[in-house]
Amino acid sequence: MNVQTPKSSPENRGAGTQVSRKEAEAAVRTLLLWAGEDPAREGLHDTPARVVRSYEEFFRGYAEDPVALLARTFEEIEGYDEMVVLRDIRIESHCEHHMVPIIGRAHVGYLPGTRVVGISKLARVVDAYAHRFQIQEKLTAQIANTINDVLQPRGVAVVIEAGHQCMSTRGVHKPGSSMVTSRMLGAFRDDASTRREFLAMISSRSCTSIES
Ligand SMILES: [Zn+2]
Repeated sequence: MNVQTPKSSPENRGAGTQVSRKEAEAAVRTLLLWAGEDPAREGLHDTPARVVRSYEEFFRGYAEDPVALLARTFEEIEGYDEMVVLRDIRIESHCEHHMVPIIGRAHVGYLPGTRVVGISKLARVVDAYAHRFQIQEKLTAQIANTINDVLQPRGVAVVIEAGHQCMSTRGVHKPGSSMVTSRMLGAFRDDASTRREFLAMISSRSCTSIES
């Protein structure tokens, strides 16, 4: 059986390029058996197919190209040179160590150079990386680095707060804990007042708890 190597380039994505749907469904059946179940019983009959379809949703990010998402930019910005911040972007990801959900939110800010991008595109970049197997540190860096490389703004800031089900439903069992990661580039890294302004913007909201 082929071993699939994780690649983020659009040519080498998962989603069944090397493993057939049948093989993926058989793998789910094996896990059900291993857990002590009878995969042939009525309630589980369609489960392997459902799980594989869920995986197509959870991991659709392998089929998305975050660089291409940021390709269309707008230059008619009337000299706007202040921070652009999109906060509370829902994160639904999966931890690459345990394959269980990471649920949280991301805050993304940048200081435009000469162009801006449609604001929904920032959320799409977050989604494209989140819908892969991840660790939060890498997810945070990938989002910031891609925005930085493609838009070439004066700075990028990304903060992610998330609950990890590998910590809440297993292992140390600490529900309610959340992990916070950040990556600051350009002016957000070099200039303390810019960084403070961003952090104030993302904290001036009503607090909602993170599901984990
Ligand atoms: Zn984990």
